[in-house]
Amino acid sequence: MSDADRVALLSNPGFGRIFTDHMVTVRYADGKGWYEPRVEARAPIPMDPASAVLHYAQEIFEGLKAYTLPDGGVAMFRPDANANRFNLSAQRMAMPALPVETFLQSLHEIIRIDRSWIPQDPEGSLYLRPFAFASEVFLGVRPATEYLYLVIASPVGPYFSGGVKPVTIWVSPDFTRAAPGGTGAAKCGGNYAAGLSAQAEAAEHGCEQVVYLDAVQRKYIDELGGMNVFLVLDDGSLVTPPLTGTILSGITRDSVIKLAQRAGRRVEERPISLDEWREGAASGRVREAFACGTAAVITPIGTIRGEDGDFTVADGGPGEVTMGIRKQLVEIQRGLAEDPFGWVH
Ligand code: PMP
Repeated sequence: MSDADRVALLSNPGFGRIFTDHMVTVRYADGKGWYEPRVEARAPIPMDPASAVLHYAQEIFEGLKAYTLPDGGVAMFRPDANANRFNLSAQRMAMPALPVETFLQSLHEIIRIDRSWIPQDPEGSLYLRPFAFASEVFLGVRPATEYLYLVIASPVGPYFSGGVKPVTIWVSPDFTRAAPGGTGAAKCGGNYAAGLSAQAEAAEHGCEQVVYLDAVQRKYIDELGGMNVFLVLDDGSLVTPPLTGTILSGITRDSVIKLAQRAGRRVEERPISLDEWREGAASGRVREAFACGTAAVITPIGTIRGEDGDFTVADGGPGEVTMGIRKQLVEIQRGLAEDPFGWVH
């Protein structure tokens, strides 16, 4: 692609529609382990119709961003945490672990070769999508003996183009996301396929996201379809659901906890019932609510909508604590503030 064409595409990339010129591939075969990473021109991957992933969904993925620093360097935020989570997902899906160095090397390779695809917009970034799937040609139900790992990259624009806007979220009466002992803590494609009906239901009710309740009692908050949840209480403390295996261990979630604690704020990881949230919003005990994840960093939650009506936290606008944590995190990520935990690579 010509430089001029690329610059035109990068002026308004949206999310996940435009891809860079290359991909990194690493093959795995039982007995041989993972092969060396290969940087290749991005191209369709030939798939046999009996490839195991197409039938039993043995697949995992990650998502993180690379972006330009003020000094012209390129950074990633906590890619080692993505590597570790990738291997936890692999373990849950009975897939072979990928060496952390290979994961990191694959990210460095794609950034090096496709660096000109990183948007210059200070809020834009290059979204990196590492993933792996069962490529063995076999229809039996058992862990595959062959896998393919790839990294592709997609330039993305700012998540909120017109300033940060609170979302309205839908409490699904019909669907749950993850049961105890299930795959909720793994980043596997199947979890997202299973969430599509709930997401469609949310959209029908004018909501941007789904908030899932626990699958056993349908009482406690788990997380959103692609983000973790925090409440800010009237004493300034934060509460967030605990990592008990039914929610994804968000890297943004972990970063928010560490930053808040460092600032002297109390953070509790404990079950939060929808009733506590509703009653706290009414009484003023819950002052703010936000969701967090790589894509939007931090998104204020304004209104919670369910079959039996709506409730809104405070005035429904972005809260002060939420926006303060958001600013702090974004500034660390972008190299505009001190990085006390050494998160920026
Ligand atoms: N929960 C789910 C279900 C997600 O897909 C994501 C996005 N990876 C998150 C939470 C947030 O995780 P992170 O902060 O690592 O992006």
